[in-house]
Formats: sequence, structure tokens, C-alpha cells
Amino acid sequence: MHKASLAIPEAASLPQAGKPGMLSIAIPVLNEERGLSRLLDRLVAVLDGLGRPWEVIFVDDGSKDGTAAMLMALNARDPRFKAVVLSRNFGKEIAVAAGLRYASGAAAIVMDGDLQHPPESIPALVRQWEQGYDVVYGERSNRATDTALHRFTAKLFYGIFSSMSRTELPQGAGDFRLLDRRVVDVLNRMDERARFNKGLFAWVGFRSIGIPYEVAARGEGGSRWRWRQLMRFALDGLVSFTTIPLRVWSYLGLFVSACAFLFALFILVESLVFGISAPGFPTLIISIMFFSGIQLISLGVIGEYLGRVYEEVKGRPLFVVSREIGLGDDHGPQPTDRVTDRGRARS
Ligand code: UDP
Ligand code: MG
Repeated sequence: MHKASLAIPEAASLPQAGKPGMLSIAIPVLNEERGLSRLLDRLVAVLDGLGRPWEVIFVDDGSKDGTAAMLMALNARDPRFKAVVLSRNFGKEIAVAAGLRYASGAAAIVMDGDLQHPPESIPALVRQWEQGYDVVYGERSNRATDTALHRFTAKLFYGIFSSMSRTELPQGAGDFRLLDRRVVDVLNRMDERARFNKGLFAWVGFRSIGIPYEVAARGEGGSRWRWRQLMRFALDGLVSFTTIPLRVWSYLGLFVSACAFLFALFILVESLVFGISAPGFPTLIISIMFFSGIQLISLGVIGEYLGRVYEEVKGRPLFVVSREIGLGDDHGPQPTDRVTDRGRARS
């Protein structure tokens, strides 16, 4: 076993208890200026009804509209609304990771900013947490808001994922969930950039329970994901949770070699015993094409993994913050890890 993995973490990275009883809501937003105000009204009503301190941390994932300005104004009006503005679009998964790094509560809730995750379900999540569950995930009771094609590809992906990976994803669980401080601390220590949150949440473990909720129609506009992004996301999910695609080639190679050997034997016997000369040209071409195809595929798969290893090895920060709004020193990563212009903003 690798010795370094037994090292005791330094004091600075030891989990903190989080502010007693406080709830942090992390919401990634990309160009949501038009939908935001509707979300706020419903959110405040629900959160105030909980009878515990709360904070909402918006992560502006490189919006091109007035989202950042709106978040500034919001914080000026009610300091419980805080925000992190990322320097560009890093993608939803990383935006969620950023929100969790800044969450200071005893529990954090991750939800979308498009009203598809109804704020009215928050009390149900909190109740289960109070019962002692560390992870309470929203289970979509319908997928009606997705297109048929989207539903089909999602089903296909989860089928492949569950057959290949040992991490079990709960059925129908989306990103809407509550995480206890302990879970948030573990997640915050995971620096991987090929990020598939649903898998990471499941990987961490702890006592988990699902709460059904109705996925509402999007408050405004269409999904911010593009198909290209979704494909990449699916590939990230598979590659970061299974190495079967890497290993399958050795078995396939063995199988194909065995076939080739048997075929050679067959031809040998055929020409020696029966005197039939094997037609060389077609078999040659077919086998060359077959094996080049297989080699290219396997190279491609190795490339997928190698590319990700390269991305991770560079060790760049997961995200770059261009501005923190309403977040004091008790929030977020340790000062040395911070890549921000806070100094400039303050002077
Ligand atoms: N989002 C983000 N960065 C992105 C894409 C989306 O922060 O690159 C946010 C978006 O503003 C929304 C949430 O993630 O609050 C969910 O996005 P969306 O509704 O577009 O995704 P879907 O519901 O289709 O999964
Ligand atoms: Mg949505």
C-alpha cells in the first residue's frame, strides 16, 4: 500500500463542524437574470419558515447577462444572499463544487436556479437530515419535462453506468440534494476536474435516503446544457467511475488471438489434408481491417483516460473566482488556495 495515503491530514484541512444549525443553499446560475426573482420569492418564504439560520450561495458560472449585477444588488439588500462569480463558464458540475467550497453551514443543499427543483421540497429534505441522514437526495417522480430523446439517452447512459461501475447511483436521483457537513468536507477534498457530481455523491457513501419531488417545468428559457456538453459529461461520468473500458481490450485481444490461431489451424489442415489452397487475398484484407479497427478503438479508449490523467496531473485550480460577494474569511477555501481579486476589491 502507498504510504502517503496513511498520512494524517494537517489541521487546516480537518473537517470543520460548520455553523451550528445553519443551512447553506448552493445554486449554480448561468444567464438566469430573468428567472432569478421568481426563485428568490419562493426561496425566502420557505427558508424563513424553517426557523434556522440560512445562507444562499449563488455561483455565477460565467453569465453573459446581468446575473452578476443582480447578485450584487441582492447581497446589498439581504446579506444572507452571497455569491461567487467565476471568471468564465466552468460548467455546472464545477460550479456546484465551488458552491460547496464556500458553504459554511452544518448542511448544504444543492439545487438548480431554474425553479425545476421546487424550493417547497426543502423542508422535507431538512426533516430527514434532522432524523440523522447525511445525504438526502431528491428523487424525480417524473421526467416529463425532458424530451423523449433526452429520456432515452439518459436511460441508456445509466444502464451502461450501472453495468460497468461499482458505484451505485440511486434511481432517478438528480442534483437536488442535502449534504451534511461531513459529506461536504469529503467532497471539498476531491479535486478531480472530470467531475460527475452524481457519482461523487454516491461514492462518498454515508446514510442516504431519497425524497420524491416533482420536477417542474423550467422557469424561463431552455436547458443551458448543449448536446456536446452532455456527451462529454456522460463520458466523464463513465471514465471517472470505471476502468472496464481500459481492461476489456486485453480480454478482447486474447479472444481475437485465439480465433486467429484456430483459423490458421483450420487453413493448415484444409490445405495439408484436403489439398485446398486458401484464398489469401480476401482473408488478408478482412483481417487487416478488422484488427486495425480494433487497435484504433483501443488506442482511442486509452486516449480518453490518458487525456484525463493529463488534465488532473496539471493540478490547475478547479475554478477561478473573479469576485466574492458578501463572503467573509469564514467562507471558502483556505486563503492560500484562493485565486481571487479580493485585495483589489477591498483597497
Ligand atoms: N448551469 C451552470 N453552468 C452551466 C450550465 C448550467 O451553472 O454550464 C446552471 C443553470 O443556470 C441552472 C442549473 O445549472 O441553474 C441547471 O441547468 P439547466 O436547467 O440548464 O440544466 P437541466 O435542467 O437541463 O439539467
Ligand atoms: Mg433545468
